Amino acid sequence: MLDKTVTDWQALAGQLDIEGRAYINGRYVDALSGQRRATANPASGSVLAQVALCGTEDADVAVSAARAAFENGVWSRMAPMDRKMVMVRWAELVEKNADELALLETLDVGKPISDTCSVDVPATVRTIRWSGEAIDKVYDEIPPTPAGTLALVQRLPLGVVAAIVPWNFPLSTTAWKLAPSLATGNSVILKPASNTPLSALFIARLASEAGLPDGVLQVLPGPGGSLGKHLAMHMDIDGLTFTGSTPVGKKLMEYSGRSNLKRTFLELGGKSPNIVFADANLDKAATMAAAAVFYNGGQTCTAGTRLIVEESIQDRFLEMVTENAQSWMPGNPLDPATAMGPMIDAGQCKTVADYVDIGLGEGAQLLFGGRQTLQNTGGYYYEPSIFGAVNNAMRIAREEIFGPVMSVIPFKTAAQAVQIANDSIYGLAGAVWSNNINTAHQVAEAVRVGTMGINNYFGGDITVPFGGFKQSGNGRDKSIHAFHDYTELKTTWIELT
Ligand code: NAP
Repeated sequence: MLDKTVTDWQALAGQLDIEGRAYINGRYVDALSGQRRATANPASGSVLAQVALCGTEDADVAVSAARAAFENGVWSRMAPMDRKMVMVRWAELVEKNADELALLETLDVGKPISDTCSVDVPATVRTIRWSGEAIDKVYDEIPPTPAGTLALVQRLPLGVVAAIVPWNFPLSTTAWKLAPSLATGNSVILKPASNTPLSALFIARLASEAGLPDGVLQVLPGPGGSLGKHLAMHMDIDGLTFTGSTPVGKKLMEYSGRSNLKRTFLELGGKSPNIVFADANLDKAATMAAAAVFYNGGQTCTAGTRLIVEESIQDRFLEMVTENAQSWMPGNPLDPATAMGPMIDAGQCKTVADYVDIGLGEGAQLLFGGRQTLQNTGGYYYEPSIFGAVNNAMRIAREEIFGPVMSVIPFKTAAQAVQIANDSIYGLAGAVWSNNINTAHQVAEAVRVGTMGINNYFGGDITVPFGGFKQSGNGRDKSIHAFHDYTELKTTWIELT
């Protein structure tokens, strides 16, 4: 797939037959209202497809289908070994359709084709396959109870789970939710983000082809404020798993409390610290400092947006980072040479521009970028941008911009670096760069985040949990720990007579 040229991808894009209907009970259906909404290509602003605009009545149909499938046990009581086979076949089908899926994701999200081919699609395949393969290797417990008694502690599926996901990694986030929730036997209703529903709709059909029984998985595109809220307030939904912004995550907790106290797991925003000491491998640290914030146009929850750098090397290191920023100038996402594509839409592009103005107004120094670009394409491109002379009290250092904007903050001592890193409402991810093992470990331990890299950024794979401290959320995606979010513990106490 990576040997294709921009011309090859453009030709394939012209041949795509895009499905925009909802997926309920094993088939594609229009919204009951008949309403549709256009989804656009952020690289050109042009309409890509018409997508079903589902409402509360579609949600109720989907919940009924999911409930019926759960109660009849066709999936929830299927032997884990057999569930595994379905999941593995599903992963194989996703892999077989990798080119089409990568292309669809690039067109819908504006992600560079090199990323969707090498990151999003392979990560999705791995997540589904790994979760499927793991499910018949998870044992329940027999605790050490007194003689004459026997206790069983079992993990049982929650029941019907709603999953609500964002637009920045639509396919891989969908996989992070669907793979463990389905592997553990739940029935699931997924609501993709309104502007990026296409890849989830595509892989739902592949799940059915792999043998997932009808009603076990539904995908409902529609507005968060009405459809998403209805799902979160629904009395017949047992679990809610969410990836998105912290303000919406707070609302979902509230909806859970106001309805049936459904188990609610949240993966939320971040303002991640990337701490560089003078004794680090500065070439690698500079390359990765740029990648940490410019990858996916900075539309990444873990983006290393606060570069916290030892004062003695600040000037030299900033020159190195700025040089690296050149290679992140945005371009056509269908060109395999492009590292950074457009922002998701005009609104997000304006948000980034507004924050650049805020930074300038706060007295930060714009060292690189700071402009919208490639306007002739009709797309929403913004330059990689770097602010120096930032202090951690500024809004550009505290608020999640969700764009390619780096704030550089100097420190003098390790204690000060940790204090700055932790001075945030968020606690999702971070990294520390040092060749001193003591410094690196001590700082990594002291920074209050769910994932910390030492001499790397974005490290990790499906075997390790992912999630946040503080207002970055609760619960965990990925690894065997994700299974805990989708299961209830049940104790059976037996007296032997
Ligand atoms: P968002 O505005 O919170 O939306 C996320 C999802 O929630 C969308 O499907 C949205 O639907 C839906 N939604 C909105 N309001 C809702 C409501 N009142 N009730 C129920 N659902 C509602 O986030 P976003 O802008 O799509 O994504 C960016 C955010 O996600 C950033 O904060 C980023 O850090 C975070 N994120 C976190 C992680 C992580 O793992 N921690 C990973 C990726 C992204 P509509 O699309 O219709 O609005």
